[in-house]
Amino acid sequence: MSAPALEKAAELLEEVARRDVPVGPLTTYRVGGNAALFVEIDGEPDLEAVCTAVSVSGVPVLVVGKGSNLLVADAGFPGLAVQLGEGFTGITTEDTVLEAGGGAACPVVARRSVAAGLTGMEWAVGVPGSVGGAVAMNAGGHGSETKDRLAAADVVDLASASPQPRSIPAADLDLSYRHSAIGASHLVLRARFALDRGDPEEGAARIAEIVRWRRENQPGGQNAGSIFTNPPGDSAGRIIDAAGLKGFRIGTAQVSDKHANFIQADNGGSADDVRRVIETVRDLVARRTGIELQVEVRLVG
Ligand SMILES: Cc1cc2nc3c(=O)[nH]c(=O)nc-3n(C[C@H](O)[C@H](O)[C@H](O)COP(=O)(O)OP(=O)(O)OC[C@H]3O[C@@H](n4cnc5c(N)ncnc54)[C@H](O)[C@@H]3O)c2cc1C
Repeated sequence: MSAPALEKAAELLEEVARRDVPVGPLTTYRVGGNAALFVEIDGEPDLEAVCTAVSVSGVPVLVVGKGSNLLVADAGFPGLAVQLGEGFTGITTEDTVLEAGGGAACPVVARRSVAAGLTGMEWAVGVPGSVGGAVAMNAGGHGSETKDRLAAADVVDLASASPQPRSIPAADLDLSYRHSAIGASHLVLRARFALDRGDPEEGAARIAEIVRWRRENQPGGQNAGSIFTNPPGDSAGRIIDAAGLKGFRIGTAQVSDKHANFIQADNGGSADDVRRVIETVRDLVARRTGIELQVEVRLVG
């Protein structure tokens, strides 16, 4: 990225952007460096300023949700990072449609949907991301995925001069396993989910069961959930375990002893160590088993 693009963006965003903002603390890894520029988007004026700055300067953009699928390099991100603020966390229901802001937390969406007598989003209680991140990643679990219930998402292309969102039907978002057509400069402002009427007690029991399962089967600490996608018909965790890599460590990062598809960072650790473990595991698995694992986590910088 050219320094003039960054400086032009900084000049245009003088009122709203901060410089050299740590992004690591915004991620569940809690490691990694700074964004050269950072804007919390909390309304139309911020959105308009960001669209103008990005379209005029061409500065690269990183949209940060809850940071639960991001690994930002220790050197940081040399462009503009944006994150939705409180103004984009609202959740409403009308009949069987649930609308949530792009910054709303998936577990909150799950619990609110059940409390409203709806069913179909209980699985989201186990995903510590935002609604925008769930759409971008087509997040899923426990036999369901975002694609199953998403009706449409309101999306702004920050690289276009217009802050007006476009309502994009789910069918046009190319949603498949941990993939969507949401690109680096696209910002999901809100999403609508088509749910069914459900029994709140059954929903609450399902949520409790999912939370219990997660506690029993997944490690806590600093990680970004599954590092690699599951190859068709298999599980990346099983493959990594079978390759003898549970507990494999480089510096401050380690393959979890509890779940081999989780790579943990030490408190105060290094994002570059995490990346080295990811790359080494991928290479060793390929050499030992012939299976080419694909990285699910978004590597930034
Ligand atoms: C303990 C743990 C368990 C997990 N379990 C699961 C699981 O069961 N299933 C699963 O699918 N994932 C799981 N994840 C991964 C992660 O929670 C999901 O990928 C989630 O959807 C990411 O959302 P986020 O808001 O944190 O996005 P981020 O990590 O912040 O970003 C991920 C990607 O989405 C983009 N993005 C984020 N917000 C927006 C937005 N508003 N508009 C446009 N793009 C956006 C980012 O630019 C980036 O490309 C887990 C993670 C952890 C830490």
